Amino acid sequence: MNPSTTREPAIHLQNVCRVYHLAGENIHAVNDVTLDVGPGVMTAIVGRSGSGKTTLLNLIAGLDDPTGGTITVLGRGLHTMNERERLDLRLHKLGFIFQSFGLMPLLSARENIGVPLRMRGLPSHEREDRVDAALEWVGLSERAHHRPYELSGGEQQRVAIARAIAEGADLVLADEPTGQLDTRTGRRILDLLRRLVTERGITLLIATHDPQVMAEADIVHEMRDGKLIATRVRDQVKGVDR
Ligand code: ADP
Ligand code: MG
Repeated sequence: MNPSTTREPAIHLQNVCRVYHLAGENIHAVNDVTLDVGPGVMTAIVGRSGSGKTTLLNLIAGLDDPTGGTITVLGRGLHTMNERERLDLRLHKLGFIFQSFGLMPLLSARENIGVPLRMRGLPSHEREDRVDAALEWVGLSERAHHRPYELSGGEQQRVAIARAIAEGADLVLADEPTGQLDTRTGRRILDLLRRLVTERGITLLIATHDPQVMAEADIVHEMRDGKLIATRVRDQVKGVDR
């Protein structure tokens, strides 16, 4: 299987740089990264804390701008889009999953899942249908009215996954999605993330340093000090710029 070459990439990064200026110092958080993320596969970006993974995801989400290079997401150059167009892209096409789950504490599971749909102005009956279907898909129908503090970490992460599904996201960006979970719960979340790809054809990009996720991913890109240093396609290892 070589999933990355069959169709147009879901994400293309060309010589992307992000330099932070801090206290008179230049920090090359992302340093000349060129990378394709194939559609409908699970790709992991791995590397130690501080290697640039979160910065890279923020750039791909259009939440931050590169100081050099260009980024294409689902066929559109982010540099050609205004804020409104980027917001539309995030609301309609992208889903986000975070280490700390990113749920609103005062809202129930089903209300949290419905937030992006509300922002899109979807009529309430359509919203409810989508939310219910997503809750069922992640196996949380009976927790629909619980608030985040009444849910375990694994259940909160399932709510976040349901939110991405309800939105109808084509591309899901996950930042350390198993980082706060024990190994067994992390495994369950990983299985659910795998099903996003195989059952729903979603493109999944995960920043992680969890060995379980690295072993599961179809493609693993390794970063160090902002640079892409290696790419692994399942069991083979291919060095880049070493
Ligand atoms: P990772 O997610 O792999 O842990 P980050 O992308 O968060 O790495 O950070 C990469 C580098 O950029 C680190 O050296 C970090 O300290 C620095 N950095 C991240 N965000 C900022 C910021 N807003 N201002 C200055 N430096 C930052
Ligand atoms: Mg990070």
